[in-house]
Amino acid sequence: MKSKTKTALPREAGAVLDALRGASRLLITSHVNPDGDAVGSVLALATLARSLGVQSVTCCMQDPVPRVYEWLAESGYIEPPGRLHGPFDTVLIADANSISRTGLAASLVTQESCLVVVDHHIVEQPDWHVGFVDPSYAATGEMVAELFEAAGVPLTHEVAECLYVAISTDTGSFRYANTTARSHRIAARLVDAGINIRDITSKVIDLMSLGKFQLLRILLDRAELSKDGSIAHAAILDKDLSTAGALSEDVDGLINYLRNLEGVQLAILFREAGATSTKVSFRSQPEINSSEIARHFGGGGHAMAAGATLPWPLDEAKSMLFHYLRQTLRMQP
Ligand code: 5GP
Ligand code: MN
Repeated sequence: MKSKTKTALPREAGAVLDALRGASRLLITSHVNPDGDAVGSVLALATLARSLGVQSVTCCMQDPVPRVYEWLAESGYIEPPGRLHGPFDTVLIADANSISRTGLAASLVTQESCLVVVDHHIVEQPDWHVGFVDPSYAATGEMVAELFEAAGVPLTHEVAECLYVAISTDTGSFRYANTTARSHRIAARLVDAGINIRDITSKVIDLMSLGKFQLLRILLDRAELSKDGSIAHAAILDKDLSTAGALSEDVDGLINYLRNLEGVQLAILFREAGATSTKVSFRSQPEINSSEIARHFGGGGHAMAAGATLPWPLDEAKSMLFHYLRQTLRMQP
């Protein structure tokens, strides 16, 4: 009989499954400003946990599920933090690796609770009880698919949709440098589960709300290029959202218009976040490490896509960042 070739899963994946099997009141969460990977992974993990016999599964995120992902099965069960009733014996964080990144109260993780992390971001100081953390995965959704496989839990149509959303958004529809043969192999399993690629892609990748379109016009109008054309940056002000009739989530993805400009090696998008804080996103070509820049300012992410929230108003945030780029990286923004 022909034996099925199977890549061995890391021990950490088994440890996550054991932690889930031992959980009775489980909280599943992810990072602030959730993206497709965060939402898709959390929803799929909730199904996995139930299949493994967890009695009580609560999904909660600091910020609402973006409208483009609202059609995913059970996304309506992701609760806002105000409705949370602890304590939870197990807290599972997906697509992030610290409670601070979730925006939820640190007190949710008590002395007695087990903190479990499933994530593909680079981590400097691991601080969890059980972790399946591996930056070689393009999306946390890939790791969740591996957990289903390891647990022998079949991928339902709904779970496959969640995971396809997770993986296709984090890989830019399988185009970014993080995409691997494994990404495609996992995607093939999702297709086998009966998902409709065209339907999902048109809903989460192609479709642009009118508000987002107007916001894009503002952003393109404000875009600035460095003298040598290697840095492109733009800012979105608080008032732009109401002017454009856009939602906060509509900012997601707009930075790609700067990154894709010919000659640009580093794209920076500033997003005013009130009077004293500015969110900054970075996208870069392989020569520049976005995550290093973000980490210098207390943020994180991946080598070619990272972000940070700077504790200064927009103008100050801009000058602090540009100063750093000039002094440390010898760049001329
Ligand atoms: P974006 O620019 O789309 O918000 O984020 C790009 C990548 O950087 C994502 O992987 C995201 O999780 C990460 N990232 C963005 N902002 C922060 C932050 O403030 N802290 C950390 N640790 N990661 C961030
Ligand atoms: Mn991710």
